[in-house]
Amino acid sequence: MSDKAALLSQLAINNGTPVRKELLPYGRQLIDDKDIEAVTDVLRSGFLTTGPKILEFEQAFAEAVDVNYAVVMSSGTAALHSAMSAAGVGPGDEVITTPLSFVATANCVRYQQATVVFADVEPDTLNIDPERVEACITPKTKAVLAVDYTGKPANLPVLRELCRMHGLVFIEDAAHSLGATYMKKKIGSIADLTTFSMHPVKHITTGEGGVVTTNDERVARHLRQLRNHGLTQDHIQRQRTGTWEYDMKEIGYNYRHTDYHCALGISQLRKLPVMLERRREIARKYRQALADVPEIGLPVKSSGCESSWHLYVVRLNLARLEVGRKEIFDALRAENIGVNVHYIPIPWLTYYQNLGYKKGSWPVAEEAYWEILSLPIWPGMTDADVDDVVMAIQKVIMAYRI
Ligand SMILES: *Cc1c(COP(=O)(O)O)cnc(C)c1O
Repeated sequence: MSDKAALLSQLAINNGTPVRKELLPYGRQLIDDKDIEAVTDVLRSGFLTTGPKILEFEQAFAEAVDVNYAVVMSSGTAALHSAMSAAGVGPGDEVITTPLSFVATANCVRYQQATVVFADVEPDTLNIDPERVEACITPKTKAVLAVDYTGKPANLPVLRELCRMHGLVFIEDAAHSLGATYMKKKIGSIADLTTFSMHPVKHITTGEGGVVTTNDERVARHLRQLRNHGLTQDHIQRQRTGTWEYDMKEIGYNYRHTDYHCALGISQLRKLPVMLERRREIARKYRQALADVPEIGLPVKSSGCESSWHLYVVRLNLARLEVGRKEIFDALRAENIGVNVHYIPIPWLTYYQNLGYKKGSWPVAEEAYWEILSLPIWPGMTDADVDDVVMAIQKVIMAYRI
């Protein structure tokens, strides 16, 4: 048997022994006894929802990201939708965003019956390209919605200045970037509105949950109203003023979060610095271990900003490989490494195709799509887990390199 044939026969996908016995997921929550206690304490208390934990979590979150106001919502998607609504995005408006994100980023624009305008990304960071954004601005543009892809902040100063010059609302989908900074400023304090997610794969979790941050008191009040059906008084305010009266001047939603979710959020937030540091440590380990694998392109180094490492996305150098991303993905999954792909370009999805978006309009994002692969990264990963990922990559790449 040739060396090559021997390497191929050792792959788990060809019935060789997998590097791991059990699947290592790409992302996962880290819950400890204090988290569990925080939740059960609330379940034994008098308030399950709209109680004291909501404000306590909002204040802790606002403090953590150096912003005046944080408004908690029932999901990151609810946070995005409320941000769109609070920004005044409506029918006929256009919102410029990236094609390389989770569907919720674009969907929230559609919830408001507005038009999504996808602007291509930068070739190195895969974040929305401010030059492409500028080229997309029309008299109908209402807002720019940037995503900090993988946790590395988009070019926020340039995007913010563009928005200021053209009178646009600057919204940041920071589902990936809680704890990241740009020029030492914390994500959450830079855009007009910033949204976060607390899904279990994100930096802190409440199971499901989201937050919108803003420095504008009026906007914060508006967000609280949108969260509660659009009612001008919530039950706490009514209780305080001793009246049954309320009004509804615009349509809102039930996007409220519960007290036990927020209790978990408070407990998780205390661990954020430690969990962030572990993510950064894992990223450093990957860089060290994979630097001399020419088939693997590593994330570009940050300048002026610090990533929060929600995802560790490598780029396959396909010219040096005998197979494509699908085969590499399948081979790594067979080794029980839970690699993933973030993301299929949003305009390629059937709903968006039916709206008339043309494939090929975002060549940088669309070409990058064939090369991207997310490696597992989450704060509970051990050094042995990281070693398994590195070993599996070396094993698979050696078998498939040209
Ligand atoms: C996770 C995520 C969301 C949605 O958050 P949910 O809390 O799951 O609703 C939105 N945008 C991006 C970029 C995300 O990664």
